[in-house]
Amino acid sequence: MINIAQPSMGDAELEAVTSVIRSGMLAQGPRVAELEANFAAYCGTKYAIAVNSGTAAIHSALFAAGIGVGDEVITTPFSFIATINPILMMGAKPILVDIDPTTYNLNPALVAKAIGPRTKAILPVHLYGQPCDFNEISELANKNDLRIIEDACQAVGATYGKRKTGNLGDMGAFSLYATKNIMSGEGGMVTTNSKDYADTIKRFRQHGMSNTYQYEHLGYNYRMTDLQASIALVQLKKADDFNRARQINAERLTRNLSLVPGLVLPKISPNRTHVFHQYVIRITPDFGSSRENLVKILREGGVGTGIYYPKTLHTIPHIAKFGYTQGQFPEAEEAAREVLALPVHPLVSKSDIDLISSIIKKVSRG
Ligand SMILES: *Cc1c(COP(=O)(O)O)cnc(C)c1O
Repeated sequence: MINIAQPSMGDAELEAVTSVIRSGMLAQGPRVAELEANFAAYCGTKYAIAVNSGTAAIHSALFAAGIGVGDEVITTPFSFIATINPILMMGAKPILVDIDPTTYNLNPALVAKAIGPRTKAILPVHLYGQPCDFNEISELANKNDLRIIEDACQAVGATYGKRKTGNLGDMGAFSLYATKNIMSGEGGMVTTNSKDYADTIKRFRQHGMSNTYQYEHLGYNYRMTDLQASIALVQLKKADDFNRARQINAERLTRNLSLVPGLVLPKISPNRTHVFHQYVIRITPDFGSSRENLVKILREGGVGTGIYYPKTLHTIPHIAKFGYTQGQFPEAEEAAREVLALPVHPLVSKSDIDLISSIIKKVSRG
């Protein structure tokens, strides 16, 4: 089976974990500190703070930005639910705007219209591994004194201009969950150039503690363990190779599928690189078969696929209750009906890519 996602681990990860176990100290310690230094250097930021999930990373960044009850945060209805839940955890209101149907990222023109007196931050997602339209969003943020928190959970190593994701906005949030481009089973990172934000997040992940049993504000236990950090340290060294392998697989799929009628293939916007956390095509009505049928035939041929995401977030009850209704975000809703992710992770071979392509072509011919 060619899985849609599969972590790539080897002896180096095994040895790293073994050495932490031999050290006798598993909790947050020297490996976490080393990961924070290396991750910041990789992203080009002054600081990186390790936490135990991407969700915790977004939550911590929102806390550091001072988002609270009555504040509004602008984001997308077309993402994983962990983009929005942390906004609710802060008691703030998610202001959703529709996506650009070519990139699946926030449409900056619609962001502009959504900014109001209570808006405090914009939370753009670099969906599938492609950076959002950052210049346009940044201009709006500057003009209206808004913070930008990047949901970079799918986009480690992707660049916008000369800068990496995580070094674009005020803070960047990353996930090291098992299916992400680099991973440690579970884990998260926040990047920033602000010492103030970094210090706040370090307290927030540890009960709000500054010095021993001195508590400055609310906090959680969002600490990462040295076991996870030791794996992430090895994975971080491989990040560029992993991303390159995904890009090569993506290029080959695009070459193979370019003439198939009714398919829309991924497009990379100017001035940025795409790290293909997902390679997502659209199955439009002009394709010879339904998405469901294609999924079934690919599965029978030994190919796993994924739908990210089958349901837009504004129709989920605890988010819809802010007043959102079906039909409100037509681009996101159409994408949810049409998108299909094909495997491109580093363990997918050239011949796997050709097999996937040939099955799709066969289905297209009917
Ligand atoms: C994975 C992911 C998250 C959440 O990360 P976890 O580590 O699973 O908590 C948030 N946003 C996006 C876009 C993601 O892909």
